[in-house]
Amino acid sequence: MAYQHQWQDGSTIDWPPGKVVCVGRNYAAHAAELNNPVPEQPLLFMKPATSLVPLAQPVRLPPGRTDVHFETELAILLGRPLSHANRQQAREGIAGIGLALDLTLRDLQSELKTRGHPWERAKAFDGACPLSGFVPLGNDDDLDDLRFSLAIDGQQRQLGHTGDMITPVLTLLSHISETFTLQPGDVVLTGTPAGVGTLHSGQQLTLELDGRFQVQTSVE
Ligand code: ZN
Repeated sequence: MAYQHQWQDGSTIDWPPGKVVCVGRNYAAHAAELNNPVPEQPLLFMKPATSLVPLAQPVRLPPGRTDVHFETELAILLGRPLSHANRQQAREGIAGIGLALDLTLRDLQSELKTRGHPWERAKAFDGACPLSGFVPLGNDDDLDDLRFSLAIDGQQRQLGHTGDMITPVLTLLSHISETFTLQPGDVVLTGTPAGVGTLHSGQQLTLELDGRFQVQTSVE
């Protein structure tokens, strides 16, 4: 069945799933763990709508790949078009927040980086973006004070706090909208905290967003 955005309560969101705009190296500790310099401005890349799959469905590793990395990220669902938006407009454009895995073929990405080639083969493949349901953003929710985590087989592997982002969420949306018009149904992934690693068949994953919801999934 084709992917469709959902609310965390299971109801369907009508906007067609659009592009996924992602930021790399938005947490200093993660940039350091991969020996990458922190970029001077946000490092952007995209995943197409065909990379989206429901997070609750078992994660399918691409055949023949042994170095598939998980990156747990806060996901922002757009509910209004944003173009050259300021931070206030960016805030009003957010329909909901959720969690995503920015799946990355790390060995292939390293090879592409060395050759100066684009990253799409390593990050934009079918199934490269398992995405949770969303919860609406409340008026009092502070986007710079959200915690999220990933546990694998009961052990915590990643713990993110949005206050640690190099480019905070609203500044990031505003920046992205200078180059790419964001539309209802588009998603922005806000970068991964430290702790990324390789996925293995049979692992049980638990992702949690700041007491709002938890999603359990497994690796096929
Ligand atoms: Zn990422």
